[in-house]
Amino acid sequence: MKKLPLHWQILLGMVLGIAVGLIASNIGGEKAVRDWISPFGAIFINLLKLIALPLILASLIKGVSDLRDMSTLSQMGGRTILLYLFTTVVAITLGLLLVNIVDPGHLLSPETRESLMTTYGVDAEKSIQAAAEQQGKGPLQPLVDLVPDNIFAAATNNRNMLQVIFFAILFGIGIVLIPDEKSRTIKAFFDGFNEVILKIIDLIMLAAPYGVFALLAGLIVDFPSIDMLYALLGYGLTVVVGLGILLLLFYPTLVRVITGRSFSFFFKGISPAQLLAFSTSSSAATLPVTMERVEEHLGVDEEVASFVLPIGATINMDGTSLYQAVAAVFIAQALNIDLTIGQQLGIVLTALLASIGAAAVPGAGMVMLVIVLAQAGIPEAGLALIFAIDRPLDMLRTVTNITSDASVSMIVAKSLGKLNDPKEKKWDDNYPPIDDTNEDA
Ligand code: ASP
Repeated sequence: MKKLPLHWQILLGMVLGIAVGLIASNIGGEKAVRDWISPFGAIFINLLKLIALPLILASLIKGVSDLRDMSTLSQMGGRTILLYLFTTVVAITLGLLLVNIVDPGHLLSPETRESLMTTYGVDAEKSIQAAAEQQGKGPLQPLVDLVPDNIFAAATNNRNMLQVIFFAILFGIGIVLIPDEKSRTIKAFFDGFNEVILKIIDLIMLAAPYGVFALLAGLIVDFPSIDMLYALLGYGLTVVVGLGILLLLFYPTLVRVITGRSFSFFFKGISPAQLLAFSTSSSAATLPVTMERVEEHLGVDEEVASFVLPIGATINMDGTSLYQAVAAVFIAQALNIDLTIGQQLGIVLTALLASIGAAAVPGAGMVMLVIVLAQAGIPEAGLALIFAIDRPLDMLRTVTNITSDASVSMIVAKSLGKLNDPKEKKWDDNYPPIDDTNEDA
């Protein structure tokens, strides 16, 4: 019997998880779900996060040390950063356009506004405090933060991914610059290390359908009430429509025009990673799968994917930046604050920086939103207005974030002549993914 392709298995897991969550909520079984199902979701996310750091280290060192000269690295780096900035600015501009057209803040009744402010005031205060640590630092602090003073200390915290990336690139460059006979052993070591990590990811992915089942069942029992969703419908829909335009139109069109790959090829390749991003709300936790899909199914050469994707997971967050733009203007509208064009242009810049600075973990975008609000002169306490439906929007913006990374990696690969021809199925030669016996048939 043919095995169900991975994305269908994951989708089935999600549907069953939602069903179990809904049933449990209706029969008062929330505690049972929290006690007996949610922990498996947590274990699954932990496994993914566990492998993310070694994966970045192994694949980046291998990727960079495989380069024959430094000019490819600088070309790849330049194009990656430019494309990431470009897609993020497009996302923010789209968000600002939509929120000004729909004007969701004025759809919120004064009573709902008051009740949201009282219910979520305390939660909002916590995010404001978390953001306070980021504020008040000099403009060059992000550059200083990029360079670790101790690699072992950096590697002990998943939030320091950029520092680990910095070290891995430096290490890779060191390998390229020493004589061949000296580098042979260390290159072979990282080659093997990388293969082991990829195999572990294959193993973890065997559990993906069960993992997302547990995650979604747990999420549903803690989901905001339908009343909340309804009260914030205008705002929620504005974000969803914006993310939808990016996901269904902007990225596939960009990929189609520049690389010639069809919409269906793109979605078929990336969909398991998208489903996982939706279930985990974390680009970092999804990274191992994004890398596997992009290399094995979208034809991006390992050299490019291992460089572009880890950086993208940490700094390229189009979904987050679009959401921050919409949320900031929505809060201003709801509090009857008129924003000038200058202030809105300021939002483009701060949302760009805030999305780059946001960690690739659940809810990070909302913490960084505080900085956008502060810069635009919007009261940070207004965060309470959007708290209720942040999680579902987080799930969708994470899908957008990783899809953008995947698109950019295809474009960079194409520009460097490193996008493999799907007909040759080069990427199936190395190690056939365990799940896809019939997927590409
Ligand atoms: N959860 C998002 C991510 O990991 C970040 C955010 O917008 O909160 O990409």
